[in-house]
Amino acid sequence: NHSIMSDGKIKKSEVEWKKELSPERYAILRTKGTEAPFTGEYYTNKETGMYLCGACGNELFSSKTKYESGSGWPSFYQTHSNAAVEMREDQSHGMHRTEVTCSRCGSHLGHVFDDGPQPTGKRFCINSASLQFKKKD
Ligand code: FE
Repeated sequence: NHSIMSDGKIKKSEVEWKKELSPERYAILRTKGTEAPFTGEYYTNKETGMYLCGACGNELFSSKTKYESGSGWPSFYQTHSNAAVEMREDQSHGMHRTEVTCSRCGSHLGHVFDDGPQPTGKRFCINSASLQFKKKD
């Protein structure tokens, strides 16, 4: 596949992403949108499995680290692996936040905050539309 780089990263044009993703997924994953709280497909999901990147399928978060934050978005206290996501400072919308993106395809996932539970103290606040859930049998 021509879109997979030698380092394993996935690069596609926005035209290609737009063709592949639903309008809602495209708006959140590729233009850093945010779904309305308490509306997402996975906010209340308590099934056992893995949450993959909604754009490229990269394994991002295990259901074992999902918890009820009360925020209205799926919340995790840890990533599946250190390499799964990238984080960067985000000064948009008059706020100082840390954006979380998929390390493989660069798509926007959500933000991470320092008010999560132990053992990490982190709250990965992730859009349902940025994820696809793979149930474990
Ligand atoms: Fe991805």
